[in-house]
Amino acid sequence: MTTPTPAPVVRVEGLRKSFGDNEVLRGIDLHIDAGEVVCLVGPSGSGKSTLLRCVNLLEQPTGGRVEVLGVDVTDPDVDIDRVRTHVGMVFQQFNLFTHRTVLENCTMAQRSVLRRPRAQAEEVARANLARVGLADRADAMPGQLSGGQQQRAAIARALSMDPQLMLFDEPTSALDPELVGDVLGVMRDLADAGMTMLVVTHEMAFAREVGDRVVFMDGGVVVEEGPADQVVGAPREARTREFLQRVL
Ligand code: ADP
Ligand code: MG
Repeated sequence: MTTPTPAPVVRVEGLRKSFGDNEVLRGIDLHIDAGEVVCLVGPSGSGKSTLLRCVNLLEQPTGGRVEVLGVDVTDPDVDIDRVRTHVGMVFQQFNLFTHRTVLENCTMAQRSVLRRPRAQAEEVARANLARVGLADRADAMPGQLSGGQQQRAAIARALSMDPQLMLFDEPTSALDPELVGDVLGVMRDLADAGMTMLVVTHEMAFAREVGDRVVFMDGGVVVEEGPADQVVGAPREARTREFLQRVL
């Protein structure tokens, strides 16, 4: 007897997205299996954020198919809020609620979306704050934290929803260099714990070491993809080599 192959967590087929006359995604195919870490790299304006945003329908695709956790999110009848409940997103700008404590930031959606009682939500939040090294900052306001701490709080908030997929869009790009390492360390721990992750990043060392696969995009298409070590260490395509020379 053979075990059926589990559906990929993300399956993107022929994805297209235009803003007016500007076709930003020109037929993207991408899949992410459970437990995989896929790093998405490429020049500014190549469509990385748009691709990530199409995965949880923050942008509406203009063509192709996007399946997340077995659900076709391009189906007009999709219950997208239900899908989003299982997908954590972390942005370059941390997007914390500035007038709420760190703990409240981590409990609000648990309470309103998952309907968890306060005590349970706080227990989950504190566990995740400990996981990102912020056990002692639960009662702080976001503005009292460093950028790196705010980003780790944003990760704890996302994790508090028990996501099955985490999307990261340049999570360290807005940070002072000395704060980048702690955030990447938290992401590395998450990867080691088996989280399925799609990470847009310019941190090539991270992509190479933590990524299972690296996808290089340019001009709205996937130019090259493969094992992280191969794409970063021995790229096949001239465009990938040229990009890496600029960022490494
Ligand atoms: P990347 O994340 O790789 O830098 P983006 O996906 O942000 O690239 O952007 C790709 C292109 O899409 C850019 O030319 C950008 O101007 C355009 N774009 C992105 N979002 C919008 C939007 N909401 N409206 C119009 N154009 C957009
Ligand atoms: Mg971007």
